[in-house]
Amino acid sequence: MERRKFLKISSMLSATPLFAKTDNRLFFKFPKKPFEYYYLKSKNPKFKIMLIGGIHGNEPGAYKAADMLINATLKKGEMLIIPRSNFTSILADVRGYNGDMNRKFASISKKDPDYYYVELLKSAILEYKPDVLISMHDGYGFYIKNKRAWGQSIVIDELKYKNFNLFSEANFIKNHANIYLKYKLGVNNTKTFSSHIHDEQKKALTGWCLENGIKAFCIEASKQLPTLEEKIKTHLVILREFFKLYDVEVAEMDEMINNPKKFIDDSNPVVEIEINGKKEKIYKAKNIKVPKGSEIIIKNINGSRGSFVVGNGINLNWKSFHARRLSIAVKNDFEKKYNIRIWS
Ligand SMILES: [Zn+2]
Repeated sequence: MERRKFLKISSMLSATPLFAKTDNRLFFKFPKKPFEYYYLKSKNPKFKIMLIGGIHGNEPGAYKAADMLINATLKKGEMLIIPRSNFTSILADVRGYNGDMNRKFASISKKDPDYYYVELLKSAILEYKPDVLISMHDGYGFYIKNKRAWGQSIVIDELKYKNFNLFSEANFIKNHANIYLKYKLGVNNTKTFSSHIHDEQKKALTGWCLENGIKAFCIEASKQLPTLEEKIKTHLVILREFFKLYDVEVAEMDEMINNPKKFIDDSNPVVEIEINGKKEKIYKAKNIKVPKGSEIIIKNINGSRGSFVVGNGINLNWKSFHARRLSIAVKNDFEKKYNIRIWS
């Protein structure tokens, strides 16, 4: 009897105008963030290289260098590139918007907003089975000056892991790359499996790869390098040596190293927006007044591969939400290009 009474009251409540009033707010819908991977193949592939960028969102040297190679011409070898593994964090320009993604490879909750992306990454790796995987980062400081810093280094989990000679390979790459680098590299061995100093690395991408039979290295530029171009250059110089070792040849490699700026895609983002069923293309800052209760759908964003939209003050994991007004930042990765302001 008591229960039935309650049900009756709650059903009455949901029909009151108090709830209908929320319809006056604007309804926004954003597209799903893309998880993009790019496959490059030459006529005579021998070894398979996989490049992973952007696991950490505030490391643009890493994801911009990976992105740049997507437009390259392969003369030899084959490659799978995932430039923006953690696009949400890239747009927020933070290490991990939903916590550190590079600690989620051993296990991840289905409720974690990163779940979908981490699982996609893992299945792409297991399906492609590269001969070598390179996880790209911009680390803090300079390793050769401070052994606790990660910047300007090649990181290995062990000197040797099963039949992978990680140290000898990393050391060979380091020595050859250093010829071309102003800020020299070191080899950082985290001893992931043989000590407890870096237990967290067991949960990282490279640790997970090794346990799954895939040879993997981290390469780190320094966050403290003076320019973004210098960070990109560090990545490309290291990669060029890996490519030589794995019989991969990129036609534009030297040109990219000498003039990375030329290869950064900074196309202006064009936003396709639909307001109450009416489509419009926006390519620069705009203020839009709409009727109360309007439905605003971002259909598409065309520009560079890093072009997307962020609702200011809105959780970046949300794809649809209500708001009274909204300022939408249109971005190329970390960089804001313009705002779209919408209110009723
Ligand atoms: Zn990192």
